[in-house]
Amino acid sequence: MNEPRVQVGILSRERIDFVLHGSYHADTIPVSGRQTAILDQGRIRWGGTLCDELLFTPDDEATDAFDLLQVTIGIGFHWERHEDQRFRGALRLLVEDGRLTAVNIVPVEAYLTSVISSEMSATASPELLKAHAVISRSWLLANLQHKTAAPLPTHEDVEGGRLVWYERDAHTRFDVCADDHCQRYQGITRASTDAVRQAVAATRGQVLAYEGRICDARFSKCCGGALEEFATCWADTSHPYLRRKRDWTSAGLPDLTQEAEAERWIRSAPDAFCHTTDAHILRQVLNNYDQETTDYYRWRVEYTQEELADLVRRRSGTDYGGIVDLVPVARGTSGRLWKLRIVGTKRTAVIGKELEIRRTLSPTHLYSSAFVVDKTGGCTPEGLPRRFVLTGAGWGHGVGLCQIGAAVMGEQGYAYDAILRHYYPGATLEKKYE
Ligand SMILES: [Zn+2]
Ligand SMILES: [Zn+2]
Repeated sequence: MNEPRVQVGILSRERIDFVLHGSYHADTIPVSGRQTAILDQGRIRWGGTLCDELLFTPDDEATDAFDLLQVTIGIGFHWERHEDQRFRGALRLLVEDGRLTAVNIVPVEAYLTSVISSEMSATASPELLKAHAVISRSWLLANLQHKTAAPLPTHEDVEGGRLVWYERDAHTRFDVCADDHCQRYQGITRASTDAVRQAVAATRGQVLAYEGRICDARFSKCCGGALEEFATCWADTSHPYLRRKRDWTSAGLPDLTQEAEAERWIRSAPDAFCHTTDAHILRQVLNNYDQETTDYYRWRVEYTQEELADLVRRRSGTDYGGIVDLVPVARGTSGRLWKLRIVGTKRTAVIGKELEIRRTLSPTHLYSSAFVVDKTGGCTPEGLPRRFVLTGAGWGHGVGLCQIGAAVMGEQGYAYDAILRHYYPGATLEKKYE
């Protein structure tokens, strides 16, 4: 296998302005400088021609680059804005869903250097960066390989409710998009750091594999001390390398699927790699560390009866009436709930899985679904609890690599392959190309 190329969907609109630096070819026609392509009756108008697809290939991939003008970044976020972005590799224009779409065709290693530079802090340790490079490459190559896999069912009805989970929809006309939906990619606009370039080069071609297949290398911010299994968050299948494990050297892990053990675990703060408040380490993983709260190894959220009833109604689209209780029904191996019963005055139902529970009980997302519930403040005149206190552990789904834990391991001198072996037990490193 040679180093593959990845097709990254960058933007879609009616008109695309771009600048080719160096010398490019469209078919056999040499072309450079400022260009405009316009959607015209479902086809692409470029100069005097009307066509269905256009490919601009650089004569020298190492030095030629193109700019896309006024790319929208941070779509849907308060910091949404437009900026010009520069890319290496080829530019493909096509029409998808009635919109003109720009696709960057770029070698995998260059893509990874860009993605990791924008995702990871420049202060991250070399071993953490290498571990991330392997994970991102595994995700990408698995994506290229299994593109045609049939979409999984995404819900399952249970007694009195529905379990929902979310898988990324595959793109059809390109491999990945440039947004957070896949991995954030901004071309070579942002200077990639030396540290990232070295980490990508040092692991060139390496992926995590299990029995010959590239691993589904999931990761999240902070496991909360124990790793979660795949089926708690997504379809009911198991990956042997995503399994129950303490995020720590050797100490055992209680059976957190048992309510009493989960409660003891969540209400205490056991030793774990990710149990840290070291600002130097947290800054490696959390880009906006200084603006964020840092109490996510163990955290607490409090709602009044009115707040919770209103929140659940808005977020679930179902009117439960007043909230009588939130009852844990099933927990995964990290103590994360994947079934929760909401007992209301008008309706009672079980919801899940992990992400659905986090979305329903927060205006955005709860840090995790590993929580226990206390009803405090006595009762309202109607006999409902006045306050609900959620005490929780970890941030994110907890499956696979724990970013905070991996950052701590990197600082403690663990090599990237040891970090990967810890979080993906049984998986091996394989070099797919030189
Ligand atoms: Zn995407
Ligand atoms: Zn952890």
